[in-house]
Amino acid sequence: MGKGSRRGAREAQALAALRSEDEPARRPVGVDRVEDGYVVRHVGTSPTAYRCPGCDHEFAGVPHVVAWPEGDPDSRRHWHTPCWTARTRRRRR
Ligand SMILES: [Zn+2]
Repeated sequence: MGKGSRRGAREAQALAALRSEDEPARRPVGVDRVEDGYVVRHVGTSPTAYRCPGCDHEFAGVPHVVAWPEGDPDSRRHWHTPCWTARTRRRRR
């Protein structure tokens, strides 16, 4: 413990910058952005199996999305890309 605050400030700054230029179409794979209070990272394939919270199925070896509540990276979850997209569409009114 004790080395979190500086990193937190830097992260907050980076997140603010991401918010100010939110152009999803131009973002390369692997770059974080903020959606609905969640930090979203598009990642490539991984041999690790993850359970998608959107459809409750396990998957491995496919490009997918990692998302976590802003400031709480320990709560990150791995989603199928379409499941994440569907989730944000559902929440938006
Ligand atoms: Zn899914």
